[in-house]
Amino acid sequence: MLPTTRFIEGKTSGLNTLSSGKQQKTMKRRKFVKDSTLSAASLLASRGLVNRSVASLSILNPRDRVPVSFIIDDSTALVNLAYYGIPQFKEIFPSQYLQDWKKLPQEIPDSFVLEFLEWCDMNGVKGKYSMVPYPACTGWLHRFIPGWTKKELEESLKIIRELAQPNWDIHSEMISHTRVINTKTGMPFPEASADYMENWEWSQTKSADELGEYIAYSLQILKDAGLHCDGVTTPGGFAGRNKQNLAKGTLYAVKEVYGGKVAHFFRDLTTDPNLSVQPQVMHAEGLDGDQASCSVHIIGCTGDWFGGWDGLTPGDADRFITPDLQEGRMVEVIESGEPAIMVCHWPGIYYNGEKVGFEIFKTVVDRLHQKYDHLVWMKLSDIASYWAAREFTKMELVDGAVNLNAPFECKNFTIQVDGRYKNPILKAGEKTILLKEDRNLSQNSWTRQDTALKLCFDLERGRSTLILES
Ligand SMILES: [Zn+2]
Repeated sequence: MLPTTRFIEGKTSGLNTLSSGKQQKTMKRRKFVKDSTLSAASLLASRGLVNRSVASLSILNPRDRVPVSFIIDDSTALVNLAYYGIPQFKEIFPSQYLQDWKKLPQEIPDSFVLEFLEWCDMNGVKGKYSMVPYPACTGWLHRFIPGWTKKELEESLKIIRELAQPNWDIHSEMISHTRVINTKTGMPFPEASADYMENWEWSQTKSADELGEYIAYSLQILKDAGLHCDGVTTPGGFAGRNKQNLAKGTLYAVKEVYGGKVAHFFRDLTTDPNLSVQPQVMHAEGLDGDQASCSVHIIGCTGDWFGGWDGLTPGDADRFITPDLQEGRMVEVIESGEPAIMVCHWPGIYYNGEKVGFEIFKTVVDRLHQKYDHLVWMKLSDIASYWAAREFTKMELVDGAVNLNAPFECKNFTIQVDGRYKNPILKAGEKTILLKEDRNLSQNSWTRQDTALKLCFDLERGRSTLILES
């Protein structure tokens, strides 16, 4: 296996690999925070605007649960990205891609997409599903893909649009996941080298505007194919040494193409228990007005221990959670209370028809649901909005009322106040909502636990008030 780059210190996957010697150094939590989140937050704190955890008033996880999610990379319509990608990677690094790729299937069929989505729906699973717009330069999702009829492509897109989108964020994974495309001409650059592959060098020195233009091009194809995106996934090492510009470029592109104010991107994962996997809110702007925006860096917490990026590397469910439910990376992260986001590649889930990755995933989800009753499956966009709201909502408790001032809206915003309060009423704009008692902290509810009153409600942008009786 090659040196890796999706790890915060490097990532395991060939479609996501970087050549030797390019591996990044482990990024320490302290430095990471300094580079991104805290700069904006501390600026605000100095202006007295951040009040996230005053005595008897604090923000909890959504519904006071632990978010879990499932990231699927290298998926698209019909095309098996491993089959078409490997020969293009091999052209750049001949000694490193020795897979017998001609034996792999060219297609991952929609019958499998349907089987997978149905199982996930039944088990409440949510996450992110890539739709590579010009998969390995085979054809365009909004036009045609040679080898499949227009009708087959239309039907494939319809499945994603109608059956995946409700529970899965759709991401582009740049344009081709292989060759860099000249966005002026729509053609790949002529040179086949690491400098002109999306996985490797091209992105490392580009400005935020240049990356933004490239990302917007990829998103426009998906928009034309009838898909909605609030975020993107990077192919392999893309912008691994250029993260600030990646974050800014992603925000620029999501705003430009879809009008979204909270963009998010998946670039890094870490399996190091000493590193935080909290989402990082970057480049927050316009917090005092009604057009606030930011870019949220979502961090995966596992490797692809399902079926590998090539669909030839069998994984192991026990690395996520052991059969006795006591150990594993998911147990570690869930018990820390941070979002536990698993990472896989679609060719490894299908595993050339053997479905090895899918079977491992089913085992992992079954074990997680056996052990825990306080998980909440979330799309990455909902996690991103929550963390943006958590970071920047100003709260104060005055005379039995919690005054909220939120630059970002989110679903199921959850706070706790002193347990002496009761009968909470939410006033937001014209709306007045009496929160109901519910142990499960569903939307617009409250519950009492120990000496605290916990409240869950949809947070609106701007000012709102929770009125409490004591
Ligand atoms: Zn990928």
